[in-house]
Amino acid sequence: MFKVMEFFRNLPKKKCSQCGLDMVEQADCYGNLCDECDHPAR
Ligand SMILES: [Zn+2]
Repeated sequence: MFKVMEFFRNLPKKKCSQCGLDMVEQADCYGNLCDECDHPAR
């Protein structure tokens, strides 16, 4: 059986291009900004 966890662990971690915060991989992510930097109120 394919090791799914191994697969995800090998994925490169995304980092916010603005603050450098580690981001969780999201299906519909808005560019390379984390939730904080991408917040509409900011
Ligand atoms: Zn950020």
